[in-house]
This record gives sequence, structure tokens and C-alpha cells, in this order.
Amino acid sequence: MKSETRTFEPEAMLVGGEWISRDEQALDAINPADGSPSGRVSTADAAHVDAAVTAARAAASARSWRDMLPHVRAQILGRIADGIRAQSETLAHLQMLENGKVLNECRAQVVGAAATYRYYAAVCETLGAEITPSRGNYLSMTAYEPYGVVAAITPWNSPLTMEAQKIAPALAAGNAVVLKPSEITPRVGLAVARIAMEAGLPPGILSVLPGTGAITGDALVNHPGVRMVSFTGGTATGRRIAEAAARRLIPVALELGGKSPHVIFDDARLDAAVDGVVDGIFEGSGQSCVAGSRLFVQRKVLEPVVRALVDRADRLRVDLPDAPDAQMGPVAGFRHRQRIESLVQSARDEGGEILAGGARPQEGRLAAGAFYRPTVIAGLDNRATAVREEIFGPVLCVLPFDDEDDLIAQANDTAYGLASGIWTANYQRAWRVARALEAGLVWINTYKQLSIATPFGGFKDSGIGREKGVTGVRLYQQSKGIYWSMDPANVRG
Ligand code: NAD
Repeated sequence: MKSETRTFEPEAMLVGGEWISRDEQALDAINPADGSPSGRVSTADAAHVDAAVTAARAAASARSWRDMLPHVRAQILGRIADGIRAQSETLAHLQMLENGKVLNECRAQVVGAAATYRYYAAVCETLGAEITPSRGNYLSMTAYEPYGVVAAITPWNSPLTMEAQKIAPALAAGNAVVLKPSEITPRVGLAVARIAMEAGLPPGILSVLPGTGAITGDALVNHPGVRMVSFTGGTATGRRIAEAAARRLIPVALELGGKSPHVIFDDARLDAAVDGVVDGIFEGSGQSCVAGSRLFVQRKVLEPVVRALVDRADRLRVDLPDAPDAQMGPVAGFRHRQRIESLVQSARDEGGEILAGGARPQEGRLAAGAFYRPTVIAGLDNRATAVREEIFGPVLCVLPFDDEDDLIAQANDTAYGLASGIWTANYQRAWRVARALEAGLVWINTYKQLSIATPFGGFKDSGIGREKGVTGVRLYQQSKGIYWSMDPANVRG
């Protein structure tokens, strides 16, 4: 790790329509691919949070935003999508620099972020209110109204995707948004905010406040002007935010951690299943909330599956994230790698066998970065620490199962319930298992396919609420019932 710092001016943050730089408490951005400083970013304290929320309240209640016609709002969202596409390379490189994700994956996420704004532009323009069945001579309606100011708090693994998935529907719903990005990846949100301002978003409607969870995040969640919190991150943080929101009686949407079961039955097409498992755990260096990190293999095919997986893991190209054929970059930070290493050590201590990886790569050009080899562990049971805890790194635990009942019991024996995957040729079994798994998402004979049109969220400790899809807009609205008498006798004639 290189130790030089303070070579950069702090990048400005967006507070209520003003770009503000602040040297005090600025965050140093470290490139995880080589440990070098890549920039500094201003951070928000409680006074900045107050200024941003106050401006957001005023902007959200201004007639120009509140009464903006849906197609005009949709045009702004469409222009943000165009602006994101126009700056694809800059944004992709920025995310790569911040979290080490392989460049091609970052490029795909830029395309996805633009598509999310475009999708919510379409939803904004087409989603109506409802006339509900009345029980008398009146018109009864359900109208949907924004909360006002939404706090969006995001993690570091995919800021391009996560932030678009919150900001686009919240704006489409008519809110103002104050984004608190992860302290590891604050610059993607700032760059998209510049695009949004150029696209014609009124000042104050979007603020971006980098900073730590303890200072900036906490001040935001507890600010009386914030009327809803949309959070993506770890389960422990989500619980803390939900407690604060409960005290304030404001709604929360929580997209939290996972320890997703990926299942191979003995009738599956094994080569396709192994491809799915490898992508499902090693893409993004395993730093994905839906990573298939617990692999259950039916005992009859355990040996060939494990052999193929180990071979694939050993051959996976771990490299600098902008190397043309890199398949896996570093993990997002050095402290995070230490945590991964300590969980792999726990697996060794609890009797696990490290069949692949379990170490940093040997190549000299990777020595200064936060790299970790794709790791496959066998010999643990479902109670082991590495099988229970979300590692959020390139670490796969393989466990055998005997039959469907055994599989369901083991797969559901977890605090989490985000995603799952099933490989089988038996359609009835696929359906039965899909319905029995306690998870918000099931993939059958595929893994990690996602669509902005499909609601997304977790069971159990993986979260509350569903983002994405048409209902992703309703997450940021409250319904209002309106009863309107049609009786002329009730009106002065
Ligand atoms: P984290 O919980 O440490 O931090 C997430 C965000 O919360 C950061 O912006 C952080 O600064 C902020 N924060 C921390 N403490 C806070 C507080 N007291 N008040 C307000 N904000 C606070 O998570 P992370 O390490 O950035 O991200 C990894 C986690 O995110 C993993 O558990 C992963 O599974 C989860 N994740 C979930 C999804 C999903 O959609 N379900 C997607 C991506 C990541």
C-alpha cells in the first residue's frame, strides 16, 4: 500500500443545489487495485445534512415540482439516462477506480443505470391512479402522493446500479432525494448528480452528501424533514436504521445482506450449472448481495461438480480490473480483504478443506492491490461460521445433500433470504423447490439474471420492501383515499 495522501483538492459535494468543497474531514479515495490514493471528497456534517434536507423540502413542495406534468418529469429522467450513456466511459472508470470492479462489468452497469432512468421515465408517464368500487352515490378514488424528502443510503459494491434503483423511482414518484453514498464510493453519485442537474433537475431536488454512516448517515436518518428512508447495505446497519425510523414513525425500505443457496440436483446439466455457480459467486469478486455463496450439490454428483469447480476457480483470470481479459479484480478494500481472510481462517479452524484459493495471488503486479484468489471450501456443515456469515468475497462453501427434504431444510436454515438458484431437468421439482425456498428471488437453470421490471427484495434478515418494477414507484408514495359525493343535495345549488 502506498501511503502518500493529500495530493488532491477535495471534490465538491452537492448540498441543496450548491456544490460545496470542504477540506476538513475529507475522505481519501484509495484505488483497491494498487493501494494508491485516487482523490479526496468533501464530507457532510450535521449542518450540511440540515441544509440539504431543508432545501429538499422546499424544492419538493414547490408547485413547479409538485405539479410537474408526468411527461415533463419523464423527459428529465430521459435526459438523465441520455447523459449517463454519453458519459459511459467516465462513469465506468470512476466506479472501477473506487471499488475495483472489472471494467467490463462497470460498463454493463452504466448501461443498466441509464436503462433504469429510462424505465422509470416510462412508468412515470403511464402509471395512473385508481377509481375504486364505491358503495353509494359517490366517486371513490385512490391517489398516490410522494413522501416529500427521501433519504437514500447506499453501499459500495455497485453504486451505479443501487443509486439509480433508488433515485429514479423516487424522483418519478415526485419526491426530492438526499443521497448518502458509501464512504468508499462517493464519486459515482456525485458524477450522476452533475448529469442530473444538467438534465434540468430543479436545484434542491437531489443532494449528494458523502460521509461516514456514523456522522452523515445518522444525521440524515434522524433529521425530522426526512419522511422515508431507502437503504441498501448490511443487515446490522439496516437494523439500526429501522430502529431509528421506528422511533420517528417513518417508513423504510431495506435491501440487506444474503447467503444465498445455489442448488445442483443430480439430473442437472452439470457444465451449465458449473458455469452458473462460477458466475454466481466470483463475478464482482463475490461482492454481490445475491452471490450464490452456499452451494448444495446432490451427493451423487458431488465429486464431478467439485472437481470442475476447483478447475474453474484455479483458472479464473484474476487481474487488474482494466486488463482486457480480467475476470476478477480486487475486492473493494484492504480492511475488507482482512475480513475475508479471517472468515476463510475460521473455515480452516472449523475443519473445512480449502480446495481452491484461500490466499492472495502470487503475481507481482497484483501485490499492491486488495486481491484474493477465488476460493472453494468443502467439508464444513451448515452450522460453520463461513457457511452462516455473509463473507461478501470470492468464497464458495460446498455442501452435499441427499434428497429434496434434506436440501430444503439445509437451504432454509439461515437468517437470510435474498436469492437462490436451482439446477434440475425435473420441472415439477423445480417448481416445488422454488416455492419452498425462503428467498425473495429464485433462479431456475440460470443465475443472476435480473430485470428492472421484476420486483427485488429479501425475505427474513435480507430486508423489507421491494425495489424495482412498476411497484418500485409505489415504494416512494403514500396512498390517499378520496370520497367525492355525487349527490346534488350536498352541494349548494
Ligand atoms: P454497510 O451497511 O456497512 O453500509 C451501507 C451504507 O450505510 C453506507 O453508505 C454507510 O456509510 C451507511 N451507514 C452505516 N452506518 C450507518 C448509520 N448508523 N446510519 C446511517 N447510515 C449508515 O454496507 P456496505 O459494507 O457498504 O455494503 C455491503 C453490504 O450491503 C452487504 O451486506 C451486502 O449484502 C449489502 N447489499 C445488499 C444489496 C441488496 O439489494 N439486498 C445490494 C448490495 C449490497
